[in-house]
Amino acid sequence: MSFPIDQIRKEFPILHQEVHGKPLIYFDNAATTQKPKSVIEALEGYYLHDNANIHRGAHALADRSTRYYEETRVAVQEFIRAKEPEEIIFTKGTTESINLVAYTFGRKFIQAGDEIIISTLEHHSNIVPWQMLCEEKGANLKVIPINEAGEILFEEFEKLLSPKTKLVSIVHASNALGTINPVKEIIAAAHQVGAKVLLDGAQSSSHLEIDVQDLDCDFFAFSAHKLYGPTGLGVLYGKREVLEAMPPFQGGGEMIKEVSFEKTTYNEIPFKFEAGTPNIGDVIAFKHALEFIGSYGKKAIKAHEDELLAYANELLLPVKGFNPVGTAEKKVSVLSFNINGMHPFDVGVMLDAKGIAVRTGHHCTQPLMKRLGLEGTVRASFAVYNSKSEIEKLAEGVTQLARIKN
Ligand code: PLP
Repeated sequence: MSFPIDQIRKEFPILHQEVHGKPLIYFDNAATTQKPKSVIEALEGYYLHDNANIHRGAHALADRSTRYYEETRVAVQEFIRAKEPEEIIFTKGTTESINLVAYTFGRKFIQAGDEIIISTLEHHSNIVPWQMLCEEKGANLKVIPINEAGEILFEEFEKLLSPKTKLVSIVHASNALGTINPVKEIIAAAHQVGAKVLLDGAQSSSHLEIDVQDLDCDFFAFSAHKLYGPTGLGVLYGKREVLEAMPPFQGGGEMIKEVSFEKTTYNEIPFKFEAGTPNIGDVIAFKHALEFIGSYGKKAIKAHEDELLAYANELLLPVKGFNPVGTAEKKVSVLSFNINGMHPFDVGVMLDAKGIAVRTGHHCTQPLMKRLGLEGTVRASFAVYNSKSEIEKLAEGVTQLARIKN
């Protein structure tokens, strides 16, 4: 059965517009995806009918809001196949999820002389929190090197592991190059030395089937907005025993059991980590994004995206002056490239004039760009609603630009 692309595109009103007089082609999906009507309507429905603060309310609206909010927690649990809903914590996004772990797990369990391992592929949000923690604690940050294709060197990773390693925090799929890391092997090796593992799933969560129990990761962080859901919302998954051993993140309402001026006791997980009024409306709407993905199935979506990436490569690799960046064997649907003799930003602006939205620059991976000897790249990232004819338009546009200089 062919992928129902026309039906899917009908679910995304934003796609049906012109930009600079040309039909919009949206290839900036690794930055954020568009939202289906069901998500937008759920958000509107919440504010039109259900808006109330959650937990402990005695009235019907509070009861409904609480129920819907907690239903999303269960939907997320099922989406990443966690054992229990209590292992799902709502945050502002991947960035906050990683910072939460650095602030709480890190403050309690990382000591002077300990080591944290990350990779050259990391997004700044999986670098800077660890640098801040290491500075505070006198711990050391170690970095797994990569090859020219943008793949981590596993033997080098194994050499970095030691009893001093307390945490390995690694991107599951690179936002800048698309590389899928061998995370199962990384997790198994890290556990051998007693280290915990955090996976940055900001990109992988929308492309790959995630089973946190099978992966055996200790933490998994991702953002709703890259998964057809609302902005300002993310998830931190943690294994129950790890979360229970961690101190709270922020202090305030909801995260407490009892407060007195002498001593405060803390709530159970996940509430221990959800201080204050959360992003209720967006959490409720997020369930509809997960249902949207579920209605087509991750497997079918991945096959469609893989086909788009293969088609883009087929059309563009023969083009003189087209330089792909990141040629890993296992990739999600990210096409990073440069055109000889052209600045990535100029390429982005010229593609925008043709209605094609791409991202340009360092993609919040400056150390990776430095390793590759690049200032930046042009990145076209493909999602469920992109079509082969859009890929043809991209290839046409890039070919025209490449001809100017090559
Ligand atoms: N990690 C990766 C791999 C990303 O691609 C991103 C966003 O681009 C992030 C972390 C940060 O996500 P957010 O800005 O949603 O917190």
